[in-house]
Amino acid sequence: MSVQVLPAALAAKIAAGEVVERPASVVKELCENALDAQATAIAISIEQGGLRRIHVEDDGDGIAADDLSLTVRRYATSKISSVDDLAAIRSLGFRGEALASIAAVSHLDIRSRTAQDLAAQQLSAVGGEHIEIRSTAGPVGTAIDVRHLFFNVPARLAFCKSPQAETQRIIQCVQHLALSQPAVRFTLNVNGREVFATTGSGRMEDVFIAMHGHELAEQLIPLDDPLVQGVLVQPTVHRGNRTGVSLFVNSRWVQQRALVYTVTDVYAELMPDGRYPLAALNLALPVEDVDVNVHPQKSDIRLRDAARVARQLRHVLRSVLAQHVAVQPMRQHFQSMDSWRSPGTQPSADQTRGAVDLFRPPDANGGTSGIGPPDAAPSTPAEFRVLGQIGAMYLIAEGVDGMYLIDQHSAHERVLYEAVLKRLPEAQSQQLLEPQSLTLSPTHVQWLEANVEELQRMGFALESFGAGAWLLRAVPLFLAEKGHDWGQFVKTVIEQKDNPDYRGDPLERLRWVIACHGAVKAGDTLAHEQIVALLGALERCDLARTCPHGRPTMVRLSHAQLAREFGRT
Ligand code: ADP
Ligand code: MG
Repeated sequence: MSVQVLPAALAAKIAAGEVVERPASVVKELCENALDAQATAIAISIEQGGLRRIHVEDDGDGIAADDLSLTVRRYATSKISSVDDLAAIRSLGFRGEALASIAAVSHLDIRSRTAQDLAAQQLSAVGGEHIEIRSTAGPVGTAIDVRHLFFNVPARLAFCKSPQAETQRIIQCVQHLALSQPAVRFTLNVNGREVFATTGSGRMEDVFIAMHGHELAEQLIPLDDPLVQGVLVQPTVHRGNRTGVSLFVNSRWVQQRALVYTVTDVYAELMPDGRYPLAALNLALPVEDVDVNVHPQKSDIRLRDAARVARQLRHVLRSVLAQHVAVQPMRQHFQSMDSWRSPGTQPSADQTRGAVDLFRPPDANGGTSGIGPPDAAPSTPAEFRVLGQIGAMYLIAEGVDGMYLIDQHSAHERVLYEAVLKRLPEAQSQQLLEPQSLTLSPTHVQWLEANVEELQRMGFALESFGAGAWLLRAVPLFLAEKGHDWGQFVKTVIEQKDNPDYRGDPLERLRWVIACHGAVKAGDTLAHEQIVALLGALERCDLARTCPHGRPTMVRLSHAQLAREFGRT
């Protein structure tokens, strides 16, 4: 076939494919336009997963009568006018592509009116052509009606999923837009029935509750920091994947894997293996530091200094969680205390609803269905009066608000983990009698070179012999006693950093191992002074309530629970 320039209508359909991937993309673009037009309320209705009809109506600024026909032209936008504007984009849209793309692949009606105009204007188009404009009645604002999406692109239609699946995507999309703009009232109707609505209160927590249900309200930790605002959830609530973490940068919903991992890594210390938190966080960054012109759908962005942002985010989250994570109240009759030990016995909570149900507070008649809401003011270990040890495994102490059982191994693990993390003198090193060798691939060598000093501070002394060969000369004191090929072990940990199923950071993994090997074991008998010292050290930890793997270090039997058990209430 000879080279030829494609007809305009075909070119438009190809270009539309980048922006309008599926019905949810249409909903996203239309809502973003409404938000850019300062809407305070946005009503969305869809039929048949959005394939038959998508209707989005807003009370924003509207489109001036003279501009209406331009809006469906490619690269027609009111939001930027020069290259310089690209360096500091404050609006959600700026590419001038969305309405043209949607018009090219649907039957489109736009009705709009500004406050200055007496009447509304209505534009109609079919496949981006046969454009007609007429006057009509209508309020200030814009209503856009998209029917028969992809009627002229059968290939794209074939790739759409079932109406139910497309509806789910639209719900998810609207919920994220609502989270990003809690001051705007959103309503979503699916086939004539309202499935989601927000009040426009301005509080992200309220949107979060509208998404996840009232059961979650007790578990929320609102976050208001200059860098990051939003809502965290107590680590007692978790699910089996990372989709519960929603991230926004300057109120734009973004898919930033690295930042999502930062959030889940902070929580990893607080929850069982393979479980992930719920959170919705907006990062407020200088617009100059964010490049949003990376992707036609604008969901991918680039940050000027992503590593620094991740570091700051980690720091904020750690300190907020340190303040707010409460001790697990002991479940009645001690029945489920061991459920933490084997993740396999945990009911699956992949569905958010499931996660919430799992942690429903005990019911009114004192039932035993789950964990209660976190305590407002749990004891700190400083307030403990040590009573002793049972089973050479648990420590017993009295706190102001009840009796505490402390898992000696988990507690000590937490203490050692933070000692390594904060480079306290406990983190000592011991020379190996025989250095151990390890050979790494070039990308792993790069990682090792960048981290060799941090490893040294943890107690691992590594020396390069060129061509990927390294010698391990010293290991942390706690590891030295165990005869083991630590060289091979370090190599495996570094290599696993690329495994997507695996928690990323090798440094973190090594800290865990040091803490675990150094900690007293179940079965070790402790003297009274040792227990007092351990609880004192635990008190100085940032996250004293869980071991580094997220299991609780302590559980509590409150005075109220004791009274109930003995029939005193
Ligand atoms: P962009 O958002 O990138 O500017 P769009 O194709 O999404 O491009 O929209 C084109 C233009 O149409 C916008 O720049 C804006 O001026 C106008 N527009 C679209 N939707 C609305 C709306 N709901 N309210 C007011 N103006 C709108
Ligand atoms: Mg737009």
